[in-house]
Amino acid sequence: MERSTHPRLDLSLDAAALTARLVDLPSESGDEKALADAVEEALRALPHLTVDRLGNNVVARTDLGRAERVVLAGHLDTVPIAGNVPSRLDEHGVLWGCGTCDMKSGVAVQLRVAATVPAPNRDLTFVFYDNEEVAAHLNGLGKVAEAHPDWLAGDFAVLLEPSDGQVEGGCQGTLRVLLRTRGERAHSARSWMGANAVHAAATVLAKLAAYEPRRPVIDGLEYREGLNAVRIEGGVAGNVIPDECTVTVNFRYAPDRTPEEALAHVREVFADCPVDEFVVDDHSPGALPGLSHPAAQAFMAAVGGTAKPKFGWTDVSRFSALGVPAVNYGPGEALLAHKTDERVAVDRILHCEERLRAWLTAAPQD
Ligand SMILES: [Zn+2]
Repeated sequence: MERSTHPRLDLSLDAAALTARLVDLPSESGDEKALADAVEEALRALPHLTVDRLGNNVVARTDLGRAERVVLAGHLDTVPIAGNVPSRLDEHGVLWGCGTCDMKSGVAVQLRVAATVPAPNRDLTFVFYDNEEVAAHLNGLGKVAEAHPDWLAGDFAVLLEPSDGQVEGGCQGTLRVLLRTRGERAHSARSWMGANAVHAAATVLAKLAAYEPRRPVIDGLEYREGLNAVRIEGGVAGNVIPDECTVTVNFRYAPDRTPEEALAHVREVFADCPVDEFVVDDHSPGALPGLSHPAAQAFMAAVGGTAKPKFGWTDVSRFSALGVPAVNYGPGEALLAHKTDERVAVDRILHCEERLRAWLTAAPQD
């Protein structure tokens, strides 16, 4: 007799209790299999859903022939655990632990809607994917988009990333480049025999320190760009003039720039620096807010509040590339994501679940 060894998810738990279960089932990037198995099994038990799987990505759909299809998406992975698992619920109704905010509370809401709204007013697609917190080429949503773009088809998508329970339109792009300077190694007692690559990198740092980022307004939302060194590597030994130095630069850019324009801009900023090598390490485009789309407006009306811009890069951009307007709307607080004291208020999780349910069960409008 076959016995299941992986943990099970009980979708009759409320979204907060379910969040705790999901946090207690650790799933750092690259290690999502057990959680993906549990999610797939729980969804397959629901007769109103068709379930597909690609790697550790699970997609479930209703097929009711509704006029519109809405996608609810969330990533299963978390950043590395930092002594903050298992989860802990405190006396103020706050749930602590890795992934509580980013974004297992959102995933719990997705699972609750999947389990408890069998006849939604719009057809629903639920997407659970892996490897969001690591380099873009590993991203599970990207892999699904490549192999089965039809699985992601829809009129509108909501990503349940932490957004403080507010709707966030669009997202900024992110570009990471390596700027490498080269010199010539020498004994530091005879430094004039060499050329110091670390000193050459000073010109790059000076450009960064003097850089004035833009704050463009798009669709009524103000974005804030940033160009920053995020790492610097150089040096051979305590008595050697270094012959190589690499500054890793991250450019967060507003969605009115195309990826090509963003790259051209960064090249231009450093054009007169003595950089010997310019390597694009990672690049993900931004997404325009898309708030003028009718599907987005119906959603806004249902959940209330006013939209804000999204500064961090999110997979909204991948949906946007597939022609599906998308927003972020999730219970976590964006500022708590990736922190060791990551946490989420239980009432925010329940509120998010309640707003989505209200939107998806309201009588259709003419
Ligand atoms: Zn996230």
